Amino acid sequence: MFMRASLLFLTSAALLLSASEHPPNPQVRQIVDSVSAERIAEIQKKLGNFGTRNIYSATDDPNHGVGAAREWIAAQFRSYSPRLQVSFDKHRLKGDPKQRFFKNVEIWNVIAVLPGTSEPDRHVIVSGHYDTINLTYKTGPDGKRELDNEATVAATAPGVTDDGSGTAAVMELARVMSQHQFRKTIVFIAFAGEEYGLLGSGFYAEDAARDHRVIEGVFNNDIIGSDVTGNGEMSNRYVNVYSADPEDSTSRELARYLKEINSRYQPGFDISLVFRHDRFGRGGDHSPFNAFGFAAIRVTTPMENYSNQHTATDTFAGTAPEYTALVTKANAAAVATLALAPKPPEVRTPPPTEGRAFASALGRGKMPDGKDGYDAVLTWHDDNPEPDLAGYEVVMRKTTAPDWEQEVFVGDVKTYTLPRVNIDEVVLGVRAIDKDGNESVVVPYVSAPYRQRKLETY
Ligand SMILES: [Zn+2]
Repeated sequence: MFMRASLLFLTSAALLLSASEHPPNPQVRQIVDSVSAERIAEIQKKLGNFGTRNIYSATDDPNHGVGAAREWIAAQFRSYSPRLQVSFDKHRLKGDPKQRFFKNVEIWNVIAVLPGTSEPDRHVIVSGHYDTINLTYKTGPDGKRELDNEATVAATAPGVTDDGSGTAAVMELARVMSQHQFRKTIVFIAFAGEEYGLLGSGFYAEDAARDHRVIEGVFNNDIIGSDVTGNGEMSNRYVNVYSADPEDSTSRELARYLKEINSRYQPGFDISLVFRHDRFGRGGDHSPFNAFGFAAIRVTTPMENYSNQHTATDTFAGTAPEYTALVTKANAAAVATLALAPKPPEVRTPPPTEGRAFASALGRGKMPDGKDGYDAVLTWHDDNPEPDLAGYEVVMRKTTAPDWEQEVFVGDVKTYTLPRVNIDEVVLGVRAIDKDGNESVVVPYVSAPYRQRKLETY
């Protein structure tokens, strides 16, 4: 029974779906090739030389502390291109002695905006955090170990991997990409206050949600600097990408997008999808975006060195700029393609009805007598399509497959029927693609959750 069903699936799929071609885009190729490991190394060294970038450290010293670091990052952004709009996104955080952010502090995100040409209101964000911490403890009055706030602020915290590596990636991407033009706006962000509780990203995501900003994706890079673990394991062949549940969330589709686009430009370097919002018990700047409903993923090396993290030994000696460059190139490919691509089509799932579980934009073809049939009927919408739109691509996978398995370019239509595809057995999605082959993220067909009706008794 199972064998027959599988065979039917494979046979019908093979007959119906032919792989469409996605040759590398020469402009994206050029962007990827321009990323320099030497420049990334120079940025990481410089960031380490500020001594600490703790948010409570000096703001008036020209060479040491968080103030000097953020001014230097902003000046670098400005030097890359006059087209980059550079600013500090400042917030005054009220301190709380019961929290790690124990007293009032200003949080300054450093932001460089590369305005989009034809769709500037659609944003793609690439980020890292430039603040650092060297967690320093003392014995409290109850005999328990507790964080020594003042000693932590004063301690050396070079943070070359956490997260000088992500910050260097963001800065190098800003340098390379600001020499090009994109349909959508790209926002390069060095967040502050990550180490004290995702503070800068929390403020930014809250503002973005309040302003109803359209953010197609947040690529957050945190700890992409090491390719050797503390116990000697080594790999520079892949990077982990975390995405929040549920399956087919916008974050998961963004993670799949990064994997697919990267494979087109760096087939020897893999994106390893991790279907989990983050590492166990740990956080990052993608999480506030997830919480406000944006698509956001975390990019992190699988080769973390825990003995260096949040200490004075997170120095340049423990980092691998060649590896960081590979991760940066993966970001470059996906961010550039997404910023060049048309907006994604819209799949309108009807609101759930009490007592009905199956509200979906996906349907079955009708038999001649009006009964449900055996074909998959996909319908989507795309208001104000771009003039250079080539059409749409339908993608499909088994429900248990981690990533899309088949695709077919269906042309400039808004509905398409896949004969003999059983919508119950597969996941289906659709994406837009322009005449240069730049593709949007996939919009999947999902069922609205079941809502229990109130049953009356008599
Ligand atoms: Zn970090």
